[in-house]
Amino acid sequence: MTTYTSYDLVEFGKPLMARERELPEPAGMQVLLRVRRAGVCHSDIHIQEGFFDLGDEGKLRMEDRGMVLPMAMGHEILGEVIALGPDADPEEAPVGETRLVHPWIGCGDCRACIDGRENECTRMNALGVIRDGGYATHVLVDHPKFLVDIGDLDPDIVTPYSCSGLTVYNALLKAGAMNPGEWLAVMGAGGLGLNAVAIARAMGFEKIVSVDIDDRKLQAAVEMGADAVLNGSREDALEELRKITGNQLLAVVDTVGAPSTSRLAIHALIKMGRYVVVGLYGGTMSMPLPWLPQKYLTVRGSYVGNCNQLRDLIELVKTGKVKDIPVSSRSLSEASQTLDDLKAGKITGRVVLTTE
Ligand SMILES: [Zn+2]
Ligand SMILES: [Zn+2]
Repeated sequence: MTTYTSYDLVEFGKPLMARERELPEPAGMQVLLRVRRAGVCHSDIHIQEGFFDLGDEGKLRMEDRGMVLPMAMGHEILGEVIALGPDADPEEAPVGETRLVHPWIGCGDCRACIDGRENECTRMNALGVIRDGGYATHVLVDHPKFLVDIGDLDPDIVTPYSCSGLTVYNALLKAGAMNPGEWLAVMGAGGLGLNAVAIARAMGFEKIVSVDIDDRKLQAAVEMGADAVLNGSREDALEELRKITGNQLLAVVDTVGAPSTSRLAIHALIKMGRYVVVGLYGGTMSMPLPWLPQKYLTVRGSYVGNCNQLRDLIELVKTGKVKDIPVSSRSLSEASQTLDDLKAGKITGRVVLTTE
């Protein structure tokens, strides 16, 4: 029996365990990859805990979403194609080539999936979230169409684009066009927030303010191209945000998604303001209802992105316009420790686990 090593979540809230598993044989359209990199994402902390905090509505439990333990987390995956199912086209997934995996796979049958908008599927079956992902030496992907050619981009840099980059790219598209002098605020300067600043800059957003409660992370946001930064823990944060933006804050991309960030956003946005939430920190948002009509506000969520958007984003990265976020590399065997460090707020930028 040929085996591979998988760093599995065996029990919610507990450290990951290294386990030897039988190497699967790809069937049908499936592609087997040797994992070269796996990015560690903030949402892995929630998955490891087993729930998302829904504030007044209680908890969203991972079991209720279809997750069965033991399972390897890790949804930012870069791997080398090593074997194909009998129905997969070898030209679409050449053995020996490295590909970035689009992990946001849906049911395959619904309108959204057929149209290539798998992230809008109501029965998502994402890699590393509902079933085995990249915290392992090998991973199985459903179809060659979920593989993206990265050209000669740096493996460490490119891996987080499949979640953190894609998530903010989609959210920035939803934040929409701005007129000269109008501002975009990015809440949070973690992996998502830093990518949001860098990608927004490359997409042509001109006025960007980064908001976080950690001055070290704000410094990183300046390096990504933020025009201004604000420590959101200041008592006068709202006044400051209005001052920085000249009261022209038209859009907010919230990569935190906490009661405090939503409060600041809703108060600081001007008429016609657009508030896009991607962060899953949790809790309840409260706001005066008359503001929706009176301020003509748009409040909307956005969840990851689709494979075409990931391809577009990688093309944008290939132009060299997107600044690299700080990425540090650790061994795959340090997956569990890395999750602990991320939870403790000890990581600036992104950690990418490597098998090489
Ligand atoms: Zn993620
Ligand atoms: Zn579907």
